[in-house]
Amino acid sequence: MSGTGKITYISLSADDQEMNAAFDAAIADVRGQLGRAHPLHVGGEKRQSSSGATFESAYPADTRVVVARVPSGTAGDVDAAVAAARAAFPAWSRTPWQRRAELVDRAAEVIRRRRFELGAWMIFEMGKNRVEALGEIEETADLLAYYSQQMRDNGGYVREMGKLVATDHNTSVLRPYGVWAVVAPWNFPYALMGAPAAAALVTGNTVVMKPSSETPLSGILLAEIFDEAGLPPGTVSCVTGSGRVVGDGLVAHPGVDGLTFTGSYDVGFERLYKRFSTEFPKPCIVEMGGKNPAIVMDSADLERAAQGIYRSAFGMNGHKCSACSRVYVHRAVADELVGRLCRMADDARVGDPLERGVFLGPIATRQGFEDYRRYVEEARAASAGVIRAGGRVLDDRALAHGYFARPTVLAGLPPAHRLWRDELFVPIVAVAPVGSLDEALAAANDTRFGLTAGFFSRRQDEIDAFLDRIQAGVVYVNRGAGATTGAWPGVQPFGGWKGSGSTGKNIGGLYTLPCYLREQSRTVCE
Ligand code: NAD
Repeated sequence: MSGTGKITYISLSADDQEMNAAFDAAIADVRGQLGRAHPLHVGGEKRQSSSGATFESAYPADTRVVVARVPSGTAGDVDAAVAAARAAFPAWSRTPWQRRAELVDRAAEVIRRRRFELGAWMIFEMGKNRVEALGEIEETADLLAYYSQQMRDNGGYVREMGKLVATDHNTSVLRPYGVWAVVAPWNFPYALMGAPAAAALVTGNTVVMKPSSETPLSGILLAEIFDEAGLPPGTVSCVTGSGRVVGDGLVAHPGVDGLTFTGSYDVGFERLYKRFSTEFPKPCIVEMGGKNPAIVMDSADLERAAQGIYRSAFGMNGHKCSACSRVYVHRAVADELVGRLCRMADDARVGDPLERGVFLGPIATRQGFEDYRRYVEEARAASAGVIRAGGRVLDDRALAHGYFARPTVLAGLPPAHRLWRDELFVPIVAVAPVGSLDEALAAANDTRFGLTAGFFSRRQDEIDAFLDRIQAGVVYVNRGAGATTGAWPGVQPFGGWKGSGSTGKNIGGLYTLPCYLREQSRTVCE
């Protein structure tokens, strides 16, 4: 448990007996519902896709287990959801913001009440461990509550302005755009769908959600939660289906006024950002990948540095956009750091994520599992002895039907190798020695990404230089709880620079909601 008594991303374990018993009961209950068919949520109605076709999500720890059967949404389903959202917009946007905030708060309460059930579904759909699953559900509820509080703290974004003439009344009012599409990834399926949907809703937009095909049930359950909280029909719809049909259908739809996408650079920038606006500019929030560095100087507390890097490189199998995948360590302490990191990686408990105490469940997707194997082979081929820990998949009996792999430390990878450049998104970290802070910062910034970065040093001048010169939206200094990962809403607003994000404003922060609003400057003369 963290210091605040709740599970967050800096929690190491969840050893509260009562909580574990409740979680086990929810897991047993969810196990009894595996394989069931679930409907689309369109305009307040639950229904099948217009084609009748469905697809399945599977448990990555045992791919023989079908988690959910869901509709394959069509272009017609996208049209219907957008039409419902357009119809709901006038009334919803005129609903007083205080009421909208109250309903979003209610959704946060429903999420908290159902946290064990949702956590259980998430483990089955994407294989994160128990602590990470509960942490994400808690984060989702906190994000919703944070956004309604932001609305209150900013008085609904209505501000009196100055006067040139005594009889003029000048006001700045931020107003919603209309229909907002939310396209989410599989790695944080609840937080990264629930939060942008809530930001759009609390600001008065209506929403169509499209979850990842790896975790489709997350979107369906969130739609159910918004319904349960009392949001009017049509304000939130969820269409499951492929990125090509449903995702692309939303991006190209003339009835969609704004878009939040979280996912890869290739899809987010190339397929969405460059294509979303056609007739006139429309708001397009894309949150994308990272290639996040940690820098360790010779004065650093090496135990803390190793722990922070270990947690960020391997936590959730490296399936975090904020995962640490590059380490630049001062030559004088490089061997010691690599030794510590390898011992921790070798000791990591990998297994069924439903079991208490398992640090790493399976790699979440077949694609990721194949990527892991390919990257390990490429590293091995690049230079002898480069794999210092891990470097193998696990296929002994208990794990034979899942995508299990050992966390992997690479040292001695040639500097030009593509593994230094590409986002890997699997449990592999590469370490390189550097001779100076300048060299480390130049290497750390030499990437198209700019999401998170970590730094370990006891020297204030070095810390100041790092904070001033690192190109990243979220930075941590001397953080053992996670060198580059573990942001929390209202604590560490989260977002990326350069190829990691489009707005320069972070989520779960002070400037998130204005991204969902457009300004109207009003002058009314007496
Ligand atoms: P992805 O880009 O493959 O897919 C994201 C979503 O886009 C999915 O719902 C997918 O179905 C949809 N999609 C795919 N093709 C589409 C198309 N042509 N048009 C419209 N939608 C389409 O990403 P992923 O594998 O689900 O997630 C992992 C990626 O997400 C990583 O790159 C990770 O760094 C990034 N990520 C970023 C953040 C952040 O806050 N910056 C957070 C989490 C994940």
